[in-house]
Amino acid sequence: MSADDGRTHWPVIGHEEAVRGLRDAVRSGRMSHAYLITGPEGIGRSTLAMALAQALNCEHVIDERPCGECDSCRRIDHGAHPDVTRVDLDWQADMIAAPRGDATRSRQRLSIETIRWLRQDIVTRPVMGRWKVQIVDDADLFSESAPDAFLKTLEEPPSFAIIILVATSVDSVSETVRSRCRHLQLGTVSTALIRETLESRGVPPAAAGAISRSAHGRIAWALRMANDPEALRARREKVEAALEHLTAPLGRVEISGVIASNHSRNREATHELLDLYTGLWRDALLHRAGLGDLVVFPEVGDRLAEYANNFGVGDLRRAVGATQRCMGDLDANMQARIALHAMVMQWPR
Ligand SMILES: [Zn+2]
Repeated sequence: MSADDGRTHWPVIGHEEAVRGLRDAVRSGRMSHAYLITGPEGIGRSTLAMALAQALNCEHVIDERPCGECDSCRRIDHGAHPDVTRVDLDWQADMIAAPRGDATRSRQRLSIETIRWLRQDIVTRPVMGRWKVQIVDDADLFSESAPDAFLKTLEEPPSFAIIILVATSVDSVSETVRSRCRHLQLGTVSTALIRETLESRGVPPAAAGAISRSAHGRIAWALRMANDPEALRARREKVEAALEHLTAPLGRVEISGVIASNHSRNREATHELLDLYTGLWRDALLHRAGLGDLVVFPEVGDRLAEYANNFGVGDLRRAVGATQRCMGDLDANMQARIALHAMVMQWPR
């Protein structure tokens, strides 16, 4: 393979174009002082940001940065480099005292106090490396007043500073912030590459296949699942519960009952369930069409395939559509009981 075929030695899987661009910038010294990395959670945005921080401060010869082995690379990897700070909601909860009476809000938003801390930190010279690097994870969670406070830093960062904002989508960051950053949009990583990566790290083929199909291109999510049997087990339980909701009459009653009444307290949980329902109905459709190899939930494949045989392809398509519509209705603040009931009524029985 040629040196420019997209594969680099950076500790990043996929995202070749973004990696190549950053690698070339590091080598030529033509860095932007502010980057905005966007993409769905779990796709490897923070991994890329950390790799850039390593490449900038690595002690190895320039063509081999980041080496992953020098003191600087290791410290960055462990979150122990004095010149590299990664800020997210957890960091904020540990490092920044919440304004009085505002403990809950500070767990959901990056506060103005955090921005102040970043502004003071960025102007102090690096003590160990060449660059001062700030990675702001959850940048779409800036509280409303925070971006303005941050703009001055983004406008005139010190010559030794690089700021990397990580966000879900470019729309969730204010235009003024966005226009001051070089934007890197990360796409999904192919299922085949995720599977190959997992297998190369010792995950048994069956598990690697199942995780890579469920990952929907999110490499970081897949690696987390593979390294965390507990998370994998929790996920399996959720899939089982969702299948029960789909297929058992009593399960369906539960949707417009317990789940609807919990919705206002935990919207995230409803959303996660609806995601599972959509995935399961899609799988049912694939089983029905004889494409069982492509399903996202192979762990319940046999039962779902048998269930799917009761219905026509049109029935199953309608179920997918009704479930997605319900998500839209809930986002538009329709009453949960009504939206969920309408969805269940359109599912085949
Ligand atoms: Zn290094």
